[in-house]
This record gives sequence, C-alpha cells and structure tokens, in this order.
Amino acid sequence: MPTLSVISPVYCESDNITVFLDALEASLAPLDHSYEIILIDDGSTDDSWHCMRREAEKRSALRCLRFSRNFGKEAALAAGLDEAKGEAIIVMDSDLQHPPSLIAEMTRIWRDDEADIVEAVKETRQKESFANRLFATLFYKTYAFFTSDDIEGASDFKLLDRSAVDALKQLGESRVFFRGMTRWLGFRRRAIPFTPPERGCGSGKWSFPAKLRLALDSLTAYSAKPLSAIFLLTVLFCLFAVLTGGEALLTWLNGEAMSGFTTVILLILISAAAVLTSICVLALYIRQIFYEAKKRPRYLISERTRQNETRRRRGLPPPRDGSQTDALLLPGR
Ligand code: UDP
Ligand code: MG
Repeated sequence: MPTLSVISPVYCESDNITVFLDALEASLAPLDHSYEIILIDDGSTDDSWHCMRREAEKRSALRCLRFSRNFGKEAALAAGLDEAKGEAIIVMDSDLQHPPSLIAEMTRIWRDDEADIVEAVKETRQKESFANRLFATLFYKTYAFFTSDDIEGASDFKLLDRSAVDALKQLGESRVFFRGMTRWLGFRRRAIPFTPPERGCGSGKWSFPAKLRLALDSLTAYSAKPLSAIFLLTVLFCLFAVLTGGEALLTWLNGEAMSGFTTVILLILISAAAVLTSICVLALYIRQIFYEAKKRPRYLISERTRQNETRRRRGLPPPRDGSQTDALLLPGR
C-alpha cells in the first residue's frame, strides 16, 4: 500500500501531462513516502489518453483510468478517490495550476498530525474575465448565505487523510461537488495559501452553462434554505395582499375606487414574478430528486492501464489492436 496517492483529472491536457508528471514526481521523490499517481481521463477528445498510456509504460507509480465519455471533473475526482489506496490522498489539477511544490508542506502538516484535511487556498484568483470574476463572487456569496460555509478562495487542491476519504465515500449522492462535500465533513483542517500560476498549455475547460449547472446543483444540494425562502415569500405576499386588499375595500366602501391600470399592472407583475420564482426554486429541487432517484453511477470506466501491466506480468502479448489496454466498462458508485 502506498503512503500517498495523488489523483488528478485530465480533460484534453495532452500538452501538459508529461510536464505535470515530471514536476509531480520531482516533488514526490524527495519525500520519505511511497506513492502512487492516478490520472483519470474524463473522456478527452485530444491525444491525452495515448499520452497517459505512454507515460504509464515509463512510470511504475502511474495508473490511468479512462471514462467512457466526459462525465465532468467532479465525477473524475470521485473515481480517483474510489481508486486511491494511500493513507493520504492528494487531489490536484493536471494543468499545472496547482503547484506540486506545495505537496511537501501539505504532507508535513499531515504527518505531524496537525490536520486531517490540508487545503490549498487561493490568495489571489487566477487572471480571468470580469464576467467570470463577477459570476464567481456572486456564487460564493450566495453559497455562503445559504449554506453558512464560506468557500471563497477554496480550491480542489487538497490533501485528505484516509479517514476523511472513507467518510466522504459514505456520502451517497450521485452528483457530487467536492469542495462543498469536503467542507461538510468537518475533521481537523488547515489551510495553506497559494497563488495559482498560469495554466500550462491550452485554456480552461469550463463553459458558462457548465459553471451555471454546477453552481445551481451545489446550491440546491447543500441547502434547503431556498425552499424556506418560498415560505417567507408566501408570508410576505399574504401580508401584502391583506394590506392592499383592505385598503381597496375601504376606499370602495367610502364610495371611491382605486385609480388606474398602473396599480393593476404592477400587482400582476409582482405576483407573477413571485409565483414564477417559487416554481423555479421548486423545479431546481425536483431536478436534483430526478437525478438522485435514477441512482445512475457517477461515472463509467472504459479502460485502465493497469490491465496491461497484468497482461505483461502474466506473459500475455499486448492486445491485438496494438492498444496498451483492454476495454472494460466498470460503473462507479
Ligand atoms: N477537467 C476535467 N473534466 C472537465 C473539465 C476539466 O477533468 O470536464 C480537468 C482539467 O483537465 C483540469 C481540471 O479539471 O485538470 C481543472 O480544469 P480547468 O483548468 O479547465 O478549470 P479551472 O482551472 O478554470 O477551474
Ligand atoms: Mg485550471
């Protein structure tokens, strides 16, 4: 059993993989710990898988999994955690934005038993557009308001003790949000600051719809407060209805009528907006229930490099199509 497992999701990172693995192994080698590296190919459409296979032939500590399609980074992290065998698991991106040089400090904190979860927290955000920054700030503020957990600056670059990973694996939801789930766990935590460097090659893979989906999913998955907000809205509207209705009735009894269409139009617009907002919130929760009720696996693995090692150990020739792996469809939880 290795002491450290490093897991990293890969989506179209063929130009970064070798540089990343070199930097990672250069940081891991001087540590006094055995280690394994697990790369998860999240259905890349470029040359990433071939590159990972080549690297796995050269590096004994490296194992690679390939998803049958793109399931998203969160699913890739879940797969890595399911696969990892180490006593401590380090989760990091493969695009060189999570500096491997921090691993030494992370493992020191863990080894000295100062914390079960060591998180790298962004001191400054990477360079990004104004719209992205605004969206992120809005999301973190809303998330903090609804869940009382401030995850602004939190990153997916973390070290987790085996006990925390085992606890995390007990959370059964099929749609996962690693940052939110690790915060929910509790455990003894320590944060170390870092400034994310520029991406190695290529560009960020998150489209705006993907970000919005993750934001809405994580808000509705970790808080029921928006549902309570509907109740509050209803109470407010009832009060509003009693006051406005009472005033209208009084003026009518006094022989006067409330004037104009403007009042009617305003009332219709305000109440329609409130009703639609409430339906929207309900729809988001029903969406969550819909996905969870299906109980589909979080991911499907179509290939893994270790199978090939097994073939070699058994003295079997490589698969006839020349590929280094066998096809295998394995469902994740
Ligand atoms: N990634 C992934 N699946 C995806 C998108 C991204 O596995 O659908 C991986 C990607 O290869 C990288 C990490 O997740 O290792 C972070 O992705 P990215 O750099 O695009 O995100 P950002 O740094 O902007 O958060
Ligand atoms: Mg990145």
